[in-house]
Amino acid sequence: MSVQDPIVQVGDPVLHTKAKSVDPKDIGGKKIQALIAKMKRVLRDEEYGVALAAPQVGESIRLFVIAGKVFKDEDDEHGPTPPDRVFINPELMRLSRKKAEMSEGCLSVRGKYGSVVRHEKASVKALDEHGKPFVHHGTNLVAHIFQHECDHLDGILYIDKAVHLEEDDDLKGARTKLKEKHGV
Ligand code: ZN
Repeated sequence: MSVQDPIVQVGDPVLHTKAKSVDPKDIGGKKIQALIAKMKRVLRDEEYGVALAAPQVGESIRLFVIAGKVFKDEDDEHGPTPPDRVFINPELMRLSRKKAEMSEGCLSVRGKYGSVVRHEKASVKALDEHGKPFVHHGTNLVAHIFQHECDHLDGILYIDKAVHLEEDDDLKGARTKLKEKHGV
């Protein structure tokens, strides 16, 4: 019995296409709200998943979701997990000149990990799931996720940019290295 992967995999044209902006008046509508609910559900089922862009579930629109666990207070591991955050029509701003290399994976490129050099700090201006504008300043992991997800919306995968790629079939090993390994 095979179960179909809920996440679109590398090679599918939707992952290599520039996605279209969302009309703000459609954000409250059934279609977008159902898509957001689906993306949160898919993300929750992925043990290593920290973020998901709409093209990864086959929708070529400018929207991504970051799992709340990414924003969890590192000093308070028993504290509450913040809700997942939705970014619609995101725009990268204030990219730091300083760059950092970080290990990345992608839910659309299963079984691989690679190092990618990205801006160490990045801010994103976007609309939330209610259509309200906000700005989020990210550093380190969050900044990397912002850039990885915005790349998805431009049809770019991290494997197009990685300075080093490796196979990763060892899920057990990956579990112990969760801090360094993120599927986004
Ligand atoms: Zn990805």
